[in-house]
Amino acid sequence: MSSPDTSACGRDTGPRLEPGLYIVATPIGNLGDITSRAVDVLTACDIVACEDTRVTGKLMKHLGLSKRLWRHDDHASAAARADLIAQMRDQAVALVSDAGTPLISDPGYRLVREAREAGVAATTLPGPCAAVAALTVAGLPTDRFLFAGFLPAKDSARRQTLEELAGIRATLVFYESGPRLVRSLDAVAALWPDREVAIARELTKLHEECRTGPAATLARHYETAPPRGEIVLLVGPPAPQAPDEVNADALLRAALQTSKPSQAAAQVARETGLDRKTLYQLALELRQS
Ligand code: SAM
Repeated sequence: MSSPDTSACGRDTGPRLEPGLYIVATPIGNLGDITSRAVDVLTACDIVACEDTRVTGKLMKHLGLSKRLWRHDDHASAAARADLIAQMRDQAVALVSDAGTPLISDPGYRLVREAREAGVAATTLPGPCAAVAALTVAGLPTDRFLFAGFLPAKDSARRQTLEELAGIRATLVFYESGPRLVRSLDAVAALWPDREVAIARELTKLHEECRTGPAATLARHYETAPPRGEIVLLVGPPAPQAPDEVNADALLRAALQTSKPSQAAAQVARETGLDRKTLYQLALELRQS
């Protein structure tokens, strides 16, 4: 991968691919969503490492490609990873998952880490990701979000995970399955009855839908209409606290230990939802006092 770039924004992904690891995002439903760079790399690579050879085989067939498929998942042993990494020394290995972006609730983290540690050149070909696609369509704040993968299946563990995330002033994004959705929505409703929730389902597919509302309302809807297909559950951030509920002085004093007044004001505004200009004035006064 040391060959000169052919464009200002990427490596050469033409017919002669440099050896190394190429992390390739693939569609999450609509096959038209594959990028032309992804097609170039899948066309020119020597090996495609994938979770399920049948699933990736279908994509390759759709693209008219026939490649050596190498099964790789999170259960791969260290020796199997080392074997695959050894191939990357003189061959171009594309890593894909069943759908979307590899490593995002999908296998690959250890492989990428160990390939990099072994000095293998690794490059990424970004593309579809259900979490990001859901954020774009849900109409919830996107300035801060936290992707938390799948919620635990057991009620107590699920509640504990949600409680851990309670203080986070950001849109929370979870992957979810149809059979578990109502229970997860009920758990969200019990903790945060007023937060806005969105269910993004079957994105980019024929039956794509995005439904928003309080968690309890959505739970009752999906109880009567059990959801099919793939689902992202998003929970909007908590409403800003009323000024008298917040000790803005204390938060600002803490922030001023390490930040300038403008930065401290911006940070506390983000955390509390209070007006940044008012906080800035307060920060200036606190610094002089
Ligand atoms: N790596 C993938 C990505 O980049 O989005 C995610 C893989 S994870 C194993 C699969 C989960 O992603 C599904 O259970 C569902 O929660 C979500 N997902 C995948 N495709 C989706 C789609 N088309 N619409 C909604 N959610 C989807």
